[in-house]
Amino acid sequence: MKYVSTRGHSEPVDFVEACLTGLAPDGGLYVPESWPQIAPAKPNESYIDVATRILNTFAGDALSDEDVRGLCERAYASFSHHSVTPLTQCGPNTFMMELHHGPTLAFKDVAMQFIGQLYDLVLGRRGQRMSVVCATSGDTGGAAAAAFAGAASVDLYILHPHERVSPVQRLFMTTTGASNVHNLAVDGDFDDCQSLVKSMFADKAFAAEVSLSGVNSINWARIAAQTVYYAAAQAAIGPDRPIRFVVPSGNMGDAFAGYVAARCGLLSGFELVCAVNENKTLATLLNDGLMQREQAVATPSPAMDISVPSNFERLFFEVAGRDGETVRRTYDQYRQSGSAILPDSVRGPLGCTGFSSAVINNGDTLAEMRTFKQLTGALICPHTAVGTAAERRLPPSEATTVILSTAHAAKFPETVLEATGDDAPLPKRCSELKARGEVYERVANDLKLIKDQIRGHMTAEA
Ligand SMILES: *Cc1c(COP(=O)(O)O)cnc(C)c1O
Repeated sequence: MKYVSTRGHSEPVDFVEACLTGLAPDGGLYVPESWPQIAPAKPNESYIDVATRILNTFAGDALSDEDVRGLCERAYASFSHHSVTPLTQCGPNTFMMELHHGPTLAFKDVAMQFIGQLYDLVLGRRGQRMSVVCATSGDTGGAAAAAFAGAASVDLYILHPHERVSPVQRLFMTTTGASNVHNLAVDGDFDDCQSLVKSMFADKAFAAEVSLSGVNSINWARIAAQTVYYAAAQAAIGPDRPIRFVVPSGNMGDAFAGYVAARCGLLSGFELVCAVNENKTLATLLNDGLMQREQAVATPSPAMDISVPSNFERLFFEVAGRDGETVRRTYDQYRQSGSAILPDSVRGPLGCTGFSSAVINNGDTLAEMRTFKQLTGALICPHTAVGTAAERRLPPSEATTVILSTAHAAKFPETVLEATGDDAPLPKRCSELKARGEVYERVANDLKLIKDQIRGHMTAEA
């Protein structure tokens, strides 16, 4: 099975290459050249079995069946729940899919644990070493640290804005104790961290010299691994039951994985509400076909403070009839002028995909955290609350509603306390983190210094 770029000017590559490369050389995102058809999950199939079947299909000839099974077994052994992504009921015909049982208590672990195992296996066999860099405002860095800690063939560089990530989020990044995880606290904000990473990738000579790789939300492996829990939810609710998914969304990787699951025959139908916070570019895209550059504003759900959602490009490619030229032209225009209107030929099909959106403001998010606690006794994180608030506004439906819970309440204790007056302590399995020393290095917002540091590690390991 081959992967093609959404901008149509890169050579097709196999699964492993698509996952190690991240962004295609023409600036596009990788998607399968056609959607494979995969048998839906059965109610009595284990998560590992479902994951193995699905990821094996996406891997094609690039990995053996046994390899994929081993990756899934090792990736999901770190989860505290044997169902990996269990469903709990939170209202009549309404369920929460808990995606926060991984090592850093957020849904990004589901994909990142798989990626960590994949890199380790493939690079180990090739005798190759890579430098993985990521910029984080919180959750991605922790999930990457947990996934790559101790990996023999990877040096991980996490750039976070100094004193601008929450204490709990920093704890997950900085306490792995692994010598291959390098935490850089940059004197700047998240955008500075992101532009440092972008500049590193843009410097092709440097990227080649240190074998640079990225695992941000455009990496195909993240989408592939996230399709599994949609399939598992369908099996748990009932193979033929219609489901309406509600997904707290930022870069739309999670929501797009639901679409992929449907295209591959893993769902009985497709209806998905992208729940967004006050950063509502995604809603504008879906409703008005308008792509507009806007400064992201800070909200109680920081992992969703995104201006233009990167994974929208994959959906755009589909509704444009897989015409890479149309995608390229629209993104070129967006880059030059800061806005672009999707062509008419695309807006029609976009309205028929099954996607819709709901925008929840900051006040309603905090109010929802209180309401949810009153109704169920449970604390939820502010991202999940954007989802449950969106669900409360939906019209009644025959379909069963499944809301994705994207992080544990304990990951955002300050917001939980503000909204509900309750403490949200870390679960027991994480409580030893606090006793471990945090290791990070404060660095200037200086591209050359950071590059030299990465070069230095590469030479020391070679
Ligand atoms: C990353 C993240 C999201 C957004 O997911 P996308 O795939 O970017 O849409 C939502 N909630 C939490 C807690 C996250 O960490």
